[in-house]
Amino acid sequence: MIYDNVLAAMGRTPLIRLQSLAEPGSAEILVKYEGVNVGGSVKTRTAWQMIEAAEKRGDIGPDSVIVEPTSGNQGIGLALVCAVKGYRACIIMPDSVSVERRKLVRHYGADVVVVHDDGDIGKCIEECIARAEAMAAADPRVFVPQQFKNEDNLFAHRYHTALEIVEDVEGPIHGFCSGIGTGGTISGVGQILKRLYPDVEIWAVEPENAAILSGGGIGTHLQMGIGDGLIPDILDQDIYSDICIVSDEEAIATARELARTEGLLCGVSSGTNVAAAKRLARKLGAGKTVVTLLPDTGERYFSTALFDGE
Ligand code: PMP
Repeated sequence: MIYDNVLAAMGRTPLIRLQSLAEPGSAEILVKYEGVNVGGSVKTRTAWQMIEAAEKRGDIGPDSVIVEPTSGNQGIGLALVCAVKGYRACIIMPDSVSVERRKLVRHYGADVVVVHDDGDIGKCIEECIARAEAMAAADPRVFVPQQFKNEDNLFAHRYHTALEIVEDVEGPIHGFCSGIGTGGTISGVGQILKRLYPDVEIWAVEPENAAILSGGGIGTHLQMGIGDGLIPDILDQDIYSDICIVSDEEAIATARELARTEGLLCGVSSGTNVAAAKRLARKLGAGKTVVTLLPDTGERYFSTALFDGE
């Protein structure tokens, strides 16, 4: 198989059954390993979908500059897609995201604008969005995909992430859980699973210090990529029946365990997802199937608490 470019090799990531983390009497847990995706995360899919759709609609052309406010992986995905397609890109991100993310965006040839996060990530993301909107207002060549509002973000998960999961799993899926950044993953995958398996139990997962769907306050936390302190427009709030709260300590411990016992190198939000999946698997019991995602690779966390002491 020869691919015309790296984007053609995107997706079709493996679904892996957890072994050491499986608990007797619990449902099996299948994880979709996006760390091995092109670009190292699930967000290459959404970057591609948002840019392709904008091209098809005629919203962007050869002179366009793609500007996006993001807490990280979406910026890396867009920088990669723009590198292949030949667009200029500028990514606006909080200074609280890992330095690896900033360096990767620059490495793919995009510009980076950093906005100071004084401990209120929601306020900082809003400031990133305002800066992108100001750039668009000042320059007609600027296109802002707006992942938090863009339906193509959802479509990427409905038509790719979700369909890959249902193609790989034989028989029904009884549980699905996901942390929420833009809400694209939980809404897009959730909608397809609900259509095929109406009884599937779907849980939203929130960091303990940014549990805003649960009515909590917004604080700093270590689960980068989720809990951005806002309720995104594209989040389908009817898709989940429960909200599961995971602490930073549990997320990090679980991400470490995934590496040490399963050989799955992944980021902190993968630990969040699996910590929640274990609770959902316990609730559903033996003979059932729970699916979740490992949204990114652990290699963009060397400078963070995930690798502390190593
Ligand atoms: N985990 C990580 C590491 C991410 O970068 C993202 C995307 N922000 C998510 C989880 C959540 O994905 P979504 O935006 O689809 O809710």
